[in-house]
Amino acid sequence: MSQPSIRGKIQDLDKKPLPGIIIEAYQHLFFNIFDISLAPAVFTDKDGTFTIHPNMKLGLDMKKVYLVISDPNKKFVSVREGDDNKFDKNIDNGNIKWKSGIVENTDDIDITVSFRPLQVPDDKYESVVIGSGFGGTIISLALAKKYNAADPTKKTRICILERGQWWVSHKMPSTSHDTIDLKPTIREYLEKNDIPHSLWAHPDDLKGLIKVFANTRAFNPIKGLYDHKALKNVHAITASGVGGGSLVYFNITERPPDSVLDRWGSELGLDINSTNLKPYYDIAEKFIGVNTITTTAGLGKFKLRRGQVFQDAVKTINDKVHNVIDTNRILDLDARLSITDIPTSVFDTANNHPTTDDIEKYAVTTNKQNNVCQRQGRCGLGCIPGARHTLNKQLYGAISNSQPIDVFPLSEVVTIEKIDGDEKDDYKYSVTFKDHREDNNNEKGIERIIKARTVVLAAGTLGSTEILWRSKKQGKLDISDAVGTRFSTNGDMFGVINPTKDNVDASRGPMQTSIAKFKDNQGNFAFSVEDIGIPKMFAELVAGMFDFLASKKGTALFSNNNLVDLFRETILNRLNDRSTMDHLFKLLEGPNLVSSDVLVNKINEIKNVLEKLTLDDKRRAQSPEERVSNMLMLFGIGTDDQNGHLILGNNNQIDLENDYKFTHPVFNQIIDAMKLFAKEIGANAEQSLLLPLWSNIEKNKQQITAHPLGGCPMSANASRGVVNSLGGVYKGNSGTSQYPDLFVVDGSIVPSSLGVNPSLTISALAFRIAEVLAGTDNVPK
Ligand SMILES: Cc1cc2nc3c(=O)[nH]c(=O)nc-3n(C[C@H](O)[C@H](O)[C@H](O)COP(=O)(O)OP(=O)(O)OC[C@H]3O[C@@H](n4cnc5c(N)ncnc54)[C@H](O)[C@@H]3O)c2cc1C
Ligand code: SF4
Repeated sequence: MSQPSIRGKIQDLDKKPLPGIIIEAYQHLFFNIFDISLAPAVFTDKDGTFTIHPNMKLGLDMKKVYLVISDPNKKFVSVREGDDNKFDKNIDNGNIKWKSGIVENTDDIDITVSFRPLQVPDDKYESVVIGSGFGGTIISLALAKKYNAADPTKKTRICILERGQWWVSHKMPSTSHDTIDLKPTIREYLEKNDIPHSLWAHPDDLKGLIKVFANTRAFNPIKGLYDHKALKNVHAITASGVGGGSLVYFNITERPPDSVLDRWGSELGLDINSTNLKPYYDIAEKFIGVNTITTTAGLGKFKLRRGQVFQDAVKTINDKVHNVIDTNRILDLDARLSITDIPTSVFDTANNHPTTDDIEKYAVTTNKQNNVCQRQGRCGLGCIPGARHTLNKQLYGAISNSQPIDVFPLSEVVTIEKIDGDEKDDYKYSVTFKDHREDNNNEKGIERIIKARTVVLAAGTLGSTEILWRSKKQGKLDISDAVGTRFSTNGDMFGVINPTKDNVDASRGPMQTSIAKFKDNQGNFAFSVEDIGIPKMFAELVAGMFDFLASKKGTALFSNNNLVDLFRETILNRLNDRSTMDHLFKLLEGPNLVSSDVLVNKINEIKNVLEKLTLDDKRRAQSPEERVSNMLMLFGIGTDDQNGHLILGNNNQIDLENDYKFTHPVFNQIIDAMKLFAKEIGANAEQSLLLPLWSNIEKNKQQITAHPLGGCPMSANASRGVVNSLGGVYKGNSGTSQYPDLFVVDGSIVPSSLGVNPSLTISALAFRIAEVLAGTDNVPK
């Protein structure tokens, strides 16, 4: 057997090899308590390559190897391996050394060293935009167009401060060859400029699943993509990264029925309603770009199984019960999705199969991307072919088009302050933030302050409410006491039909395909129900959990508890290792700092316990796809009473003051509708319906929301809300006087639950505000 070696190359950002760099290899030993050197230090050759021959005879474990690079001239600005693995800077006896994390592939190590200093934001900007989701991106693009037109020297600039990093697909080329997309590609731009970024979790198996968990802010608090906040009995999931929620959302781009928006006028006294918001919905739909994707292939005529089964059930329910809204779209149940598909009209050839050349020609002639949906069923985990219309693409498009936008990732805003004495040059706000780009994950960050003439707060419902709360508490802004009010989960509610009569092929196709809007007994719109797919990498874990729930159906344990409690009581208690339980309890309780090293074992343990509890030999022999092929997840979204009140809780973090009340009748209406679905689709009729987070006991009810709304609600005056209908922030506790040039533009201003997914409504509101901030001609369309 040949002796294993550790090989790789070291280059700079322009891919120029770096000779003469000193590199050493070490290995963690004995539960990571000791480290041992594997070989004497080596130098890189003239082509930047190195080979280390480990001489350790005692238990060499290549999965525990890390590298150390010496920096005798102290010139490196950063060092990274591959895309994710940043080296930590250590100062040892005055010498600077860079230490990597565990290297994944010890025979193909690709190290990039940057000599380029970090771009530091200017002290002053015309505008600072906080957050880069739907609200932040739309406003930034509009302001950029306005400043560009007024100041071709590009000195009038916008600074976007975003707490997360950039995210791209590993399939995106890191050179401009072989792509007709923007040149350089986003990935090439990020790599060349040493901008913090990472790759969507892959492959679609347990390894990928672990990456998904490791990409949560619970495990990776600075750079993680998914943010789970346990707000009393509500689990809120949002995204953190350049592009905000668009990075992980399930692409549904829907308008709420007019009645929802009209209530904003009639009940809340706002000066907007469905009629005057309609043009902005039109603009938003065009900007995001929507398609309906419910067939098995781009040009296929066959419906995806999941969509077909869901839509057939709705039609039957409608025939029998007549409570589905069908006037506008005549039971058109295909959801509008922000995904690119190949339009059938372009390739309506005899055999209906476009060649790769056809697709390329289509992309070039129409100037559209050639990334089209491959039905991989993993939209919320990041689209490998890049078919989803995420906002990072829009922002990169503007940057590569020399628009005056500076995006600073890993820059988390803490407060905004109105500077009263500094009105002469009109830089009247100071924004304090933590720059985590050089952090090595120690969470401290470098505190920086930027002054700005205009500040747009677009950090999402939880982020913006938290920043305003903190700024109010510290006396930096005089915000209305209504801050934190009208918080809503958007009536989100999960259900699962397990088992279904027919195969629904849950892991294939966009994660959502269809939507049905339901009326209450008075004939008014009340809620929607949608299908949700199960990504392949989650299939084994999810199948175990839902099979376990199904096996407990009918018992008191099932009806009096929600999934979180059941998980605690019946699964965690069976895990015999005390530390595993500690880690998982912590995870269920909210953000924590469990290291990602322990994660692999923990997830495997849960999977094994679930499998032992639930699966017989036949089931165990099934592929992941087969295990979920008869499970249909349903997602209800209701017009509830937005009864939540967000406050600054422990550690100055956002929390609910009291449990969210799930007492509004709409929740039972959603459950009744899900029962109708189960009757049509379930193998055991209604008995097949599982409500994983629901309980018969009020205090045990919980929900996950992907759509938190409110907290800085629009209102007619400061005694009822935080901003006016144009996002302008009220000053004080009553009346309508406003802070000049201070706006909130995101989900936090939405004053009611919507009954449909909110991104299009947030975008429509952002376009309306953008028109005022930047002028009609500068609104991106
Ligand atoms: C898994 C999932 C699936 C979803 N599917 C859909 C769907 O199909 N259709 C739909 O309409 N909606 C969907 N949503 C909801 C949708 O993503 C959000 O409603 C939408 O993104 C909210 O837009 P926003 O502009 O309010 O803020 P966001 O898009 O949340 O953007 C806010 C940004 O601000 C950043 N930020 C937060 N705090 C700070 C700070 N202190 N400093 C700097 N930056 C900060 C965040 O990192 C984030 O990038 C989904 C959400 C999730 C989590
Ligand atoms: S189904 Fe797959 S290919 Fe299609 S948009 Fe979703 S992630 Fe991308």
